[in-house]
Amino acid sequence: MLIGVPKEIKTHEYRVGLVPSSVRELTHHGHQVMVQTGAGTGIGFDDDAYRAAGARVVDTAEEIFSLAEMIVKVKEPQTSEYRLLREDQILFTYLHLAADLPQAEGLVQSGCVAIAYETVTDARGRLPLLAPMSEVAGRMSVQVGAHLLEKMQGGAGILLGGVPGVHAAKVVVLGGGVSGTNAIRMAMGMEAQVYVIDKSLDRLYELDLQFGPMLNTIYSTVDAIEQHVTTADLVIGAVLVPGAAAPRLITRDMIRKMRPGSVFVDIAIDQGGCSETSRPTTHADPTYVEEGVVHYCVTNMPGAVARTSTFALNNATLPFTLALANKGYRKAIQDDPHLANGVNVLHGRVTYEAVAKSLDLA
Ligand code: NAD
Repeated sequence: MLIGVPKEIKTHEYRVGLVPSSVRELTHHGHQVMVQTGAGTGIGFDDDAYRAAGARVVDTAEEIFSLAEMIVKVKEPQTSEYRLLREDQILFTYLHLAADLPQAEGLVQSGCVAIAYETVTDARGRLPLLAPMSEVAGRMSVQVGAHLLEKMQGGAGILLGGVPGVHAAKVVVLGGGVSGTNAIRMAMGMEAQVYVIDKSLDRLYELDLQFGPMLNTIYSTVDAIEQHVTTADLVIGAVLVPGAAAPRLITRDMIRKMRPGSVFVDIAIDQGGCSETSRPTTHADPTYVEEGVVHYCVTNMPGAVARTSTFALNNATLPFTLALANKGYRKAIQDDPHLANGVNVLHGRVTYEAVAKSLDLA
């Protein structure tokens, strides 16, 4: 199969659909790969690295879209891109279609086969192509929080791990799923005093087994949230109710009761945020202060560590990319119901029910 990788054109997007080692894997399996010049430069892969892996480097996105049988990307196609998509061409990327009618209409008109990373499932009902970005955001949240607690960043002047004779900072992680678990791991590694609050007892049980007695596991109630949030130095919002807006678990009053200079990192901001005081920010201007508490609410945290994020994403997507290339999409989705769950648009129709419903295209 001829596979095409255009350069991402969304502002400040440095990730790329395939890293050179993924290109090599595909060419090793007998496929051809075209990569747009400069596609990997933002994360340290020049055109020669792609050539060495067996790719043909071309100048324009137009060449890729007109020739490739499958396009592998990171972000949803922008207007100039979905106009180039062709009938029967496979598009494998993040789509996030549910709130994007123009894109959905563009994909429908193109007649392409659009497979969304974010709706591919695994045997345990999880979302394996979304998980790597939650892992990145979770780990990053502690690094960001530790930095923001420094005086020069507007923080209270607290070292996460303390020192002998001075107690460590209190870190409260709200939601112990993929991102929460990764945040816990980093915060415990930095020797903070860590609390996790989750509404799933099963999840708390698993976390207790995984991290042992140094992790404080707390069942989620209004009372527990108030008690622990108001006494925390760093709060990390990592809750998710699948398919819904993030629950607003933290009130303005709780934020007001925190020590001035405390920090709140809201990973769940991409679903609306889990505090009354949350509002989306960007990497260009990531923080604001509300009720004396430093808020960090960047909606695309993994973008800041684009190289790590691209590798993490490729590790998760490559088996599916290979299956699609080796078998063609019909056989690949017939053989794998989890990949089939990724199909959002097929030959001029939105086939993913939740997307069709939310766009009123059902
Ligand atoms: P997940 O499903 O793995 O975990 C969510 C956890 O929240 C679950 O354990 C669940 O039991 C818990 N939860 C739900 N309601 C709760 C409540 N009322 N009280 C306590 N716990 C509750 O989700 P995830 O993959 O960790 O993602 C978390 C959020 O981070 C999502 O909104 C995701 O989109 C977002 N995210 C943001 C970025 C970013 O750049 N900002 C990057 C990746 C992921």
